[in-house]
Amino acid sequence: MEFPLIVRDFLDRAATAYPDRTAIVDEPDQPAAGFGGGQITYADMARLARGQAAGLDRLGVPTGGRVAMVSHNSARLMTSFYGVSGWGRVLVPVNFRLSVPEVRYIIEHSGAEVLMVDPELRHLIDEVPCKHSFVLGEETDELLWGSTDEPAPWAGDEHATATINYTSGTTARPKGVQLTHRNLWLNATVFGWQTGVSDRDVYLHTLPMFHANGWGMPYAVTGMGGEHIVLRKVDGAEILRRVEKYGVTLMCAAPAVVAAALDAAATWDGPIPGRDRTRIVVAGAPPPTRTIERVRDELGWEFIQIYGLTETAPLLTMSRMRQEWEDLTPTEQARNLGRAGAPAIGVRVRIDGTGEVLAQSNHNLEAYWENPDATADALADNWFHTGDGGAFEGGYLTISDRKKDVIISGGENVSSIEVEDALMSHPRVREVAVIGVPDEKWGELVTALVVTDGEVTEAELIAHCRENLAGYKCPKRIEFRDELARTATGKLQKFKLRQPYWEGVERGVN
Ligand code: AMP
Repeated sequence: MEFPLIVRDFLDRAATAYPDRTAIVDEPDQPAAGFGGGQITYADMARLARGQAAGLDRLGVPTGGRVAMVSHNSARLMTSFYGVSGWGRVLVPVNFRLSVPEVRYIIEHSGAEVLMVDPELRHLIDEVPCKHSFVLGEETDELLWGSTDEPAPWAGDEHATATINYTSGTTARPKGVQLTHRNLWLNATVFGWQTGVSDRDVYLHTLPMFHANGWGMPYAVTGMGGEHIVLRKVDGAEILRRVEKYGVTLMCAAPAVVAAALDAAATWDGPIPGRDRTRIVVAGAPPPTRTIERVRDELGWEFIQIYGLTETAPLLTMSRMRQEWEDLTPTEQARNLGRAGAPAIGVRVRIDGTGEVLAQSNHNLEAYWENPDATADALADNWFHTGDGGAFEGGYLTISDRKKDVIISGGENVSSIEVEDALMSHPRVREVAVIGVPDEKWGELVTALVVTDGEVTEAELIAHCRENLAGYKCPKRIEFRDELARTATGKLQKFKLRQPYWEGVERGVN
């Protein structure tokens, strides 16, 4: 007997086994109130998801049709993982920090028929063309989720695309990562199993839900009937307050969020919430050994590291404390936990001749949406090419540098080429190289080295970038140069340009 692995399985189980349990506690300061009064049970969530599917039927969105949402973390976005994908449509969760031209590109490229936006992003409705557009909020709740009609049945197909997640990479435009129900199902179950997700878990959404579908926890935690606590905006003290108020046991975060929690703990009055109870899963950049030690010592939270990409749904490897390390010193333990980790169940890792990390797994993307060339490159020889450099020794992977021209700042990818394009469109810019420079708070800072034709200031160039790019992609620093290091064939020598900034840093990524 065989049934398709579809993401709706997670909500169906929770609604069957735990209908009266709290499923989602929405952000109390959500600009759009409503949606069940801020707290909904699994029975409510299942009803709202069905209502959303029936509403999409009414709009005439077919199976496979794309439905985009540009939203901060919210109960509405959380429910859409099911209301949209659960009945065969494709959810496109869009980064709410993107600029108007960037969102326009994604809506157009994905062919989304429906666009839903957070009330703070209301302007997008006028500026981004789409067949059906809605501002989320009380006025549209009834229309979008309120239908009591039976949604048109969907037989389920585990190879169908469930989400398309746009990610900045090595091209001037972001690429749409097509993840199937099977990818998401297996990532969620393996990730959930290896982090020990259970029906006792209270999960705090410190990760943006749009980023690799909140790495899969919206599925894994739901499947076990755990509780979701929505956090709209990252703030260290607020994280600690929520951990205390709701008895949070689990969260996922980029290293910058971990740093914010550590800062807040330094001035926290009383015992640190979650001590000896909470586990935090960290990824996006290699966390420094000292940070790992501080999480375990000052917060008393379990530290788990994972490594992966949007393209791998994302779980590839995990580093978690193990019995064999119990006699080691805290620093030695932290050093072990500082490695990206051992392959997760069903994942194969290999390093190729150039030092690039390759991976095979059931979580790896189906394709880049409407981009067969990029798909063929990324999946050459049936291995996914991560673009990261590393070593695989003693069963553990360590990430040491990046082969791809990508900067990771505060956990979000920034394509150097995209920023270079934006700068080159300024009439005074003759040559440009955009590089990542190590930074204590953000991991890496977007830095532009520029050769100009005539007078132009740093502020003018940054303002120019802001017209086309999300704020976090814009250079934080611009340095004016007479020339840029190039090879004999005229190719920029980025490694040479990066060198002075990275001296004394252990790895080539931060
Ligand atoms: P994204 O697709 O936006 O999630 O970014 C994926 C990229 O983040 C990877 O290709 C790595 O460069 C980086 N990354 C993710 N996790 C880790 C980690 N644990 N250590 C080092 N780099 C990481």
